[in-house]
Amino acid sequence: MQTIYFDHAATTPLDEQVFEAMKPYFCEEFGNANSAHQLGNNAKVAVEEAREKIAQFIGAEPAEIIFTSGGTESDNAAIKGAVAATGKTEVITSPLEHHAVLHTVEAMKRSGVKPVYVEPDERGIISAQKVADAITERTAVVSIMHVNNELGTINPIKEIADVCHQRNVPFHSDTVQSVGKLPVDVNELGIDLLSISGHKIYGPKGIGVLYMRHTTPWMPWMHGGSQERRRRGGTLNVPGIIGLAKALELCEEHREEHTRHFKNLRSRMVDGLQSKFPEAISMNADCDDCVPHILNMSLTDDDGNGVDGEMLLLNLDMEGICVSNGSACTSGAVEPSHVLAGIGLDEHIANSSIRISFGKNNTEPQVDYFLDKLQEVVSRMKATA
Ligand code: PMP
Repeated sequence: MQTIYFDHAATTPLDEQVFEAMKPYFCEEFGNANSAHQLGNNAKVAVEEAREKIAQFIGAEPAEIIFTSGGTESDNAAIKGAVAATGKTEVITSPLEHHAVLHTVEAMKRSGVKPVYVEPDERGIISAQKVADAITERTAVVSIMHVNNELGTINPIKEIADVCHQRNVPFHSDTVQSVGKLPVDVNELGIDLLSISGHKIYGPKGIGVLYMRHTTPWMPWMHGGSQERRRRGGTLNVPGIIGLAKALELCEEHREEHTRHFKNLRSRMVDGLQSKFPEAISMNADCDDCVPHILNMSLTDDDGNGVDGEMLLLNLDMEGICVSNGSACTSGAVEPSHVLAGIGLDEHIANSSIRISFGKNNTEPQVDYFLDKLQEVVSRMKATA
């Protein structure tokens, strides 16, 4: 049985070329980039080259790049660092952010921080006007993601950044799902703090970047050694850093080609879904507002009720197909994802959703296989209902 992986928004396989670039830094060039000897220096040179490369891809200065353990740490560091440095007490964000942002701001309530949530429109998009309306003199930072990881929707980042700057408020964007897929230039978009994760772009897990504009008020969150100019303590993950830089280079080199490929797979998928399930499929985000590699839909039965999303996922998994669904098992109970609930989707429809996220190695025959298997699985579920 073949395995078909349509869950690239969750994680991506490491690119072979990335693996090759990382290999020497495990066993041969294993030095600590902060050591004064030859091996340490070799690691440091490689890290600084990687830093320069990454900075260039996002239009930043190398000194504005801080290596972290991933998207979650970068989101925590951006928000906590801006709050600490400004001494202000409100953080503006949206209910559709990743938990790395939402749980961070909720946890900060304990130290007197007030999260201010800007509601999305019915498509799941955050308007710059609503952000402008929420800003007060107490606003420490605004944090709005570029691309939503469940829906694929794209927020108007430049407009949001503009309203933040008019009010002199730092702007953070979680670009974990957009870097390497959309053009992301911190100056063109006006982003002051930005989060990147290696494993979403065919790079390694456990490595990320926090971009911090040098004029942005920000204080270190993680203390320890003097690494990263005392902005993030901890021995540098040298192979991870080399891998992240190589992964970003490859994604940038092939970005347009990948976009064309994803558009083609998406239209084949959407056409197939509409012809096989004309009544039963509803899209949870409009393709025109989204990145082409993420597709979120719900499936209903003959009575218009949402099918059991957990069962659907399990049955597809038995056929070798990996996708995600829009529910999470919290304390034993299945709850709809906060994103689907946040766009006002009925709980049953949200629980019957599946997210398909394409990667560069997916093929048209895989889409066709998926469509056939989905039809078989849905019929099987109907027969046993
Ligand atoms: N933000 C977004 C939008 C994400 O999709 C993810 C990964 N699911 C993260 C942050 C967290 O990144 P990491 O896994 O590198 O901690």
